[in-house]
Amino acid sequence: MKTVTLLSRVDEQKCIGCRTCERVCPVLAIKVVDRKALVDADRCRGCANCEQRCPTGAVTMVRREAPLTIGVDINSVDYGEIIALCEKAKLHPEQRLCYCVGTRADEVAAAILLGARTPEDVSLVTGMRTGCTIECIQPLLRLLEAAGCELQPPEGGWQWYGRTATAWDLSEDIKQKYDSRGFYFDEDRALFEKLVEEGKKGGAGE
Ligand code: SF4
Ligand code: SF4
Repeated sequence: MKTVTLLSRVDEQKCIGCRTCERVCPVLAIKVVDRKALVDADRCRGCANCEQRCPTGAVTMVRREAPLTIGVDINSVDYGEIIALCEKAKLHPEQRLCYCVGTRADEVAAAILLGARTPEDVSLVTGMRTGCTIECIQPLLRLLEAAGCELQPPEGGWQWYGRTATAWDLSEDIKQKYDSRGFYFDEDRALFEKLVEEGKKGGAGE
């Protein structure tokens, strides 16, 4: 479980209605109405993406009057199903996906098994950030895909729905081309598969 202590606050005088904050909010908590950004305090997870990207400095992170507690109870889901979903996405269940808040693959898998269908759903219940476009978002997209979810960017052209290729997606031609340049795709793959096997056995740690 995680405690959310911060909340985004917008200074209307400085807001120019550019919608940058809307596009970077991982939980759809901020919307521009009549050229002014409005924050839904119940949804805001205090990630500060909007504060960091606002071009006019209109957003400030303030302390919540009452902190929010969020998180998914993985004990409410059959751990065998969690392992199976992680295995399909080539992830160890204990692997940390979001380095900002420490969300693990098993918590994300549990969120999906409990009904989350989009990155925004997962972020809302776990607090996972998803804003860096490479680290946490990629394994999150792989878990959603493995669960059969179709990935559709929400209205507004979000930035993080593209899935990058993994070592499992590369053709033999590509692998051969890069082998001589010091890439070790097959070896990487074998190592990850070993980790995933450990995860199936309930192996220790990351
Ligand atoms: S990014 Fe800043 S200026 Fe742009 S809409 Fe959001 S709060 Fe307003
Ligand atoms: S980007 Fe983060 S801090 Fe800003 S409204 Fe969305 S959840 Fe809150």
